[in-house]
Amino acid sequence: MNTVTASIDIDALQHNFAVVRRHAPHSKIIAVLKANAYGHGLLPVAHALAQADAYAVARVEEALVLRANAITKPILVLGGFFSAEALPLLAKHELQTTLHTWEQLALLEQASLPAPIKVWLKLDTGMNRLGLRAEELPAFIERLSHCRNVVQPFHLMTHFSQSDEQDTQATRLQIEEFNRLSAHLPGERAMANSAGILAWPASRSDWIRPGLMLYGASPFAGQLAADHDLRPVMTLKSQLIATRACAQGEAVGYGGHWVADRNTTLGVVAAGYGDGYPRMAPEGTPMLINGRQVPIVGRVSMDMITVDLGPAARDKVGDEVTLWGEGLPVEQVAEKIGTIPYELLTRLTSRVHLTYCDKREQMPMLKLA
Ligand SMILES: *Cc1c(COP(=O)(O)O)cnc(C)c1O
Repeated sequence: MNTVTASIDIDALQHNFAVVRRHAPHSKIIAVLKANAYGHGLLPVAHALAQADAYAVARVEEALVLRANAITKPILVLGGFFSAEALPLLAKHELQTTLHTWEQLALLEQASLPAPIKVWLKLDTGMNRLGLRAEELPAFIERLSHCRNVVQPFHLMTHFSQSDEQDTQATRLQIEEFNRLSAHLPGERAMANSAGILAWPASRSDWIRPGLMLYGASPFAGQLAADHDLRPVMTLKSQLIATRACAQGEAVGYGGHWVADRNTTLGVVAAGYGDGYPRMAPEGTPMLINGRQVPIVGRVSMDMITVDLGPAARDKVGDEVTLWGEGLPVEQVAEKIGTIPYELLTRLTSRVHLTYCDKREQMPMLKLA
């Protein structure tokens, strides 16, 4: 009997992939599977997105898990490599890497490899995190294009800093700068993340890199997945393990911060920060019980969360509680907590059980974890 379950809807995942295709029918798709596929399970998600043209992960270790499970599709390691030892692994397993420092270039030049590596030169067009700046490029490209350990021509990419803000000029300027810097280079290009795909048509280049939208969440503050025809893939559920009457004036939970302002019924939900539900979730953060939203009261504890079911509540022990997902958008919960859907989805702990459901195949809940 698993208490907190993240139920993963494969049909929704494939629907969202089709939405990506519809937005950018001429781009090849790199499905981003970093951080355990945003918490949804690396291998099941990779198998469900077999139509993708490539996968991307953040770390070499994540890519090796895919290869160890017989996945032969191109894989891009977004974080790149940091040491000489990683290079033979990249070559052996045909992993592609981003390239963004002079140190990496020197390692590539000095390595002796069984085969050349496909690299994506990362251009810094305004993010100021990873990437080569315009003034460094000519000298870098001169050396890179003569590097025997690199498949020529190398590819080009950049990453947006504010593509989720639709009313700023920053993304338009980044797109223009990327196009200017890459204009005379023969390699293929990649710019757009989810927000780029949805809001910035000019960023849909040879390749696109959707992450969050595949999982059915909106990257834009104040907008929901449904506004973009996306369906939530993960529904996080638990159940009521106790209900109790609470009299006006009684305090609830650690610290006794919340005090009932009327007679009411409280419910105790079996979930807590031990499952990755944020302890900083404030009072009023919603949960879904028997079709209605109820607010968290008092502090989130390790294994339990108290909700105010209301004076007329008829909910029973064992009733299902949705923490986010179908019927309660993760965006709404994230906003209330003061974070973003990315963080909520990726921070679940190993205590949470992942189950997979593919409605089209009429399968019962299939456990793959
Ligand atoms: C995580 C990541 C993406 C995907 O971003 P989303 O906002 O989740 O679509 C794309 N490109 C790079 C370089 C990333 O690190």
